Amino acid sequence: MRSADRIKNLPPYLFAEIDKMIARAKKEGVDVISFGIGDPDQPTPDNIVNRMIEAVQDPTTHSYPSYEGLYEYRKAVADWYKKNYGSEFDPDKEVVSLIGSKEGIAHLPFCYINPGDKALVPDPGYPVYKTSVLLAGGEPVAVPLLEENNFLPDLEAIDEDIAREAKLFFINYPNNPTGAVADEDFYQNIIEFAREYDLIIAHDAAYSEIGLDDYEPLSFMQFPGAKEVGIEFNSLSKPFNMTGWRIGWAVGNEDVIESLGRIKTNIDSGIFEAVQYAGIEALTGSQDNIKKMTELYTKRRDLLVEGLKELGWEIRKNKASFYLWAKVPKGYTSTEFSTYIFKETGIFFTPGNGYGEHGEGYVRIALTVTEERIREALERLKEKKIKFT
Ligand SMILES: *Cc1c(COP(=O)(O)O)cnc(C)c1O
Repeated sequence: MRSADRIKNLPPYLFAEIDKMIARAKKEGVDVISFGIGDPDQPTPDNIVNRMIEAVQDPTTHSYPSYEGLYEYRKAVADWYKKNYGSEFDPDKEVVSLIGSKEGIAHLPFCYINPGDKALVPDPGYPVYKTSVLLAGGEPVAVPLLEENNFLPDLEAIDEDIAREAKLFFINYPNNPTGAVADEDFYQNIIEFAREYDLIIAHDAAYSEIGLDDYEPLSFMQFPGAKEVGIEFNSLSKPFNMTGWRIGWAVGNEDVIESLGRIKTNIDSGIFEAVQYAGIEALTGSQDNIKKMTELYTKRRDLLVEGLKELGWEIRKNKASFYLWAKVPKGYTSTEFSTYIFKETGIFFTPGNGYGEHGEGYVRIALTVTEERIREALERLKEKKIKFT
């Protein structure tokens, strides 16, 4: 088989070895506690499941959907933005449905990247930004997210020539994997930056509804000028525990939304309409689940961070998302530390270098583990006298 260069050029899947290690341990009977999973552990709320059951029994949902999504779904998205963020979108021109936001993120570079074109991608970052730019034949340029800048890109440190050449700039707040959040200044500055260098901003807001304590994350779209320079991806996956349903959207700049839609008509055939009706229920029905989930993640975070502190490991509490981004103790790389903890205790933390070279020195801890299992994990770490300093 003679593979295409685009496949050959895809970076190796860094977690493949780790997955094997976990699978082997499980087979040997190890009771693995994995903090590696970026997927809510709780079920989809009943009102959404029930709407789905009803919709799937209606044969009119069984045909090909439209690529851009039901008007009612796009309208529900627009109304939700108006209510939550005060931003207005025309459901016909400024909203497109997506088979999960990952699908839209992965297709966007195909609209703007010619072979050799540059795109700015956060490092550490959700791997899809980089790989989709590579698949489109482009050149991803890593923008470091450093602790000293609160894991926000330092716009002034970006080389001017590269900024001018680049066509796209992916950003993501609340952030995976660092759990960082962005403030008003950041969004205002990046809109200015996009204007100056003629860049499209693609903001991934997958965790916009997962604010912990009383923190309320911002939307890129609530800032004046955002619509002139970019779009925002969002999804029902994280706030409504719907990762398996595959439903999301992009909103924002009319031209970008149109281009993304044009690519999609040629590749996929939209979201199963029954899932779209369930999505409308998620957006317009009871929002109690979001409160329930954010309280749950807050409790888990506090239990874990305070427990680890007693063992000598100080971790900054995340204000949003369900990720802790923890510095590994001196003397270890991310992978060494992750492997050491796993071998000793059966507890898995994701090595940060899997999200880019600037993730080296950290592990990502997902709060998708019950309090009972968190207590068990703390117990094991204590018993094995794991040293964190
Ligand atoms: C989970 C996640 C997504 C999205 O998921 P979909 O299920 O495809 O909507 C997008 N971006 C980030 C950073 C994520 O962590």
